[in-house]
Amino acid sequence: MNHPAVHMAPAVPPAGALAGGEVMVATELAIPGHETVPCPAAPLLAGTFTRAGHPVRTGPVCLLPEGTPSSFHVAIAPKAPTGVPAGARSRPGGAAVLAAGPAPASGLPGAEGFAQGIVQQWARAVRPRTVLLASPRSLCAGVERAIEVVEALLERHAGAGRPVFVRRQIVHNTHVVRDLESRGAVFVEELDEVPDGAVVVFSAHGVSPQVREEAVRRGLEVVDATCPLVTKVHSEARRFAARGDTVVLVGHAGHEEVEGTLGEAPEATVLVQSPDDVTALRVPDPARVSYLTQTTLALDETAEIITALEKRFPGIRGPGSDDICYATTNRQHALQAVAARADVVLVVGSANSSNSVRLVELARRSGTPAHLVDDVTGIRTEWVQDAGVVGLSAGASAPQALVDDVVAALGGLGPVTVREHTTVTETVVFGLPAAVRSR
Ligand code: SF4
Repeated sequence: MNHPAVHMAPAVPPAGALAGGEVMVATELAIPGHETVPCPAAPLLAGTFTRAGHPVRTGPVCLLPEGTPSSFHVAIAPKAPTGVPAGARSRPGGAAVLAAGPAPASGLPGAEGFAQGIVQQWARAVRPRTVLLASPRSLCAGVERAIEVVEALLERHAGAGRPVFVRRQIVHNTHVVRDLESRGAVFVEELDEVPDGAVVVFSAHGVSPQVREEAVRRGLEVVDATCPLVTKVHSEARRFAARGDTVVLVGHAGHEEVEGTLGEAPEATVLVQSPDDVTALRVPDPARVSYLTQTTLALDETAEIITALEKRFPGIRGPGSDDICYATTNRQHALQAVAARADVVLVVGSANSSNSVRLVELARRSGTPAHLVDDVTGIRTEWVQDAGVVGLSAGASAPQALVDDVVAALGGLGPVTVREHTTVTETVVFGLPAAVRSR
């Protein structure tokens, strides 16, 4: 394997001394006598340092002429004969990504050597590549609606200083939650953390009737951001149970949506997660069985479970239309098409996002290596090092801006051609709940 040479160049120390062992990753590099070089892969490399436990800072770095004494040195690879990093000369690929390490006297053993290693990794990953964007991807109508509900309430109550509580994560994405938190939303696990009479939002995943009853008892002002497609599954659960059926819910134990749906008819509902669960199932009357599914499951795996249910209970009845929602379905179809054409797939989404995790699993089942990242800082250069085509998608709760960040950072690993692969165009929009609309 080719190991590009790395050398340490003197640089202007950043404003504010680096703490012991702190590493500076250049977002742009000013080089005497040359144009400033942008370093778009900086957030990606910064993530590498963070994972290794090195405190990291990002910002512009200014090189000094070779041989200038300085307490601050920048790891650069590979060194060009002119003294300008080869990456810097590869523009317009925008492939200059340089990690700056603290001076050897910084106090953190290995920080400088580690910085050199990271820069070497970066240099090995520099190559032209295509980013194939799966479309549809990113936010669905239910998630957009839920975020809008919280935003509208924050705006409404900001003047009065009335807090807006949200039960559980409004949608399963750490960035969305952090952003709303920074704007004043207070996220809680359970209603007992909410003061009597306060405003509380139920998340897109829905809640059980028991939670609704508690909110009424406590005099809470509830605004329900449950996705209408989850509400549909809840009403099916009530209807199927009311006609005397055992309701088989296909889903993942512990997921908030499943908890809510199970709560609609707890005596009549059983959860299955695999064809083996179906085999083990015991019901009071095999002639009276219905099934429902979580909205964000893998289409192929769910089809297997439903086939097993139909074999076991030939008279079983399902929902009038699929419970796996349009957004989950469309994102899986688009991802499949992209995975078939890609060397590696990246899915932007949080680890607790069911539909994001399903996208990763789907790509892997189709034989393409795939990785879930919360944002650009989660990407490892070795994943994309040999990839000429990177497939990129995002779960239904991950904002498009996070995808844009990934594309920009990949542009710091060599010239990128972006292509969009569209399997269907989505037009679904859900109206806001009356409680938000009416005032
Ligand atoms: S993924 Fe589907 S069910 Fe979940 S919020 Fe989006 S549209 Fe609704």
